[in-house]
Amino acid sequence: MALVTTKEMFKKAYEGGYAIGAFNINDMEIIQGIVNGAKAKNSPVILQCSTGALKYAGAKYLKAMVDAAIEETGLDIALHLDHGPNIEAVKEVIDAGFTSVMFDGSHYEYEENVRLTKEVVDYAHARGVVVEAELGVLAGVEDDVVADSHIYTDPEQAVDFVNRTGVDSLAIAIGTSHGAVKFPPDAKPELKFDILEEIQRKLPGFPIVLHGASAVDPQTVATCNEFGGNIANAKGIPVEMLRKASSMAVCKINMDTDIRLAMTAAIRKTFGEKPEVFDPRNYLGAARTEIQKLVESKIDTILGSENGMN
Ligand SMILES: [Zn+2]
Repeated sequence: MALVTTKEMFKKAYEGGYAIGAFNINDMEIIQGIVNGAKAKNSPVILQCSTGALKYAGAKYLKAMVDAAIEETGLDIALHLDHGPNIEAVKEVIDAGFTSVMFDGSHYEYEENVRLTKEVVDYAHARGVVVEAELGVLAGVEDDVVADSHIYTDPEQAVDFVNRTGVDSLAIAIGTSHGAVKFPPDAKPELKFDILEEIQRKLPGFPIVLHGASAVDPQTVATCNEFGGNIANAKGIPVEMLRKASSMAVCKINMDTDIRLAMTAAIRKTFGEKPEVFDPRNYLGAARTEIQKLVESKIDTILGSENGMN
């Protein structure tokens, strides 16, 4: 049991044809729900914080709770910065004890993305921390990250980028997107597996990351809306597509929206069914239980990382 980087996790996942779940954390119940699910499946897990989460809860609180989770569960856990916007943010979390960082320079012009990513890699590697970068643009909205449409990753450019920056993993754009509305209501969900295959062929053994890969369970959305919510046009990535990606070069799958939806549905349902409740442990406890169930089901149906701790 330890706070680890993703290096060993990704190596085993790549060779084993499975992926590691990366879940965003904002508070104690979310952390406990995720690690209890991973513990039940004896699976490694990545806990990640956006800059929004760091603003909300503070790096010190989040790190201390993750340390407690490792001690309580005995799991190997990587603590990762999600969408680091600049080197200052990266330095801050490395000082706080994070083991993995993402630098997202995907909105910069290509040469600038290479230059800034390389700077982050040099800084992080000197301190034993691994780096994820991004190439291509995902549509959707996630905290401070907003984009109107996809720019799919160019496989040739991915090879050049990885060789020149020395990054440890790469987030690519093949049709996943941030948020709960990933496809128009009438559109058929599609991921560009030909791009993933080509990148895998050109960069054998190199770990690929999918962001914005929540499945957006219609039943969970329906529960939110049944109990006073108003979530329109929600549509996620089909489970079988994510499972296929897990069996390929994809070693890390980010699924934040599903955690948010599960938590909101559980809290709304508790309020709707038991209007007399005002003990936060009641509704936050229900949320924690639902998050645990969600993580266990992700490990079973998408990730395939059960017993990955062995
Ligand atoms: Zn993302």
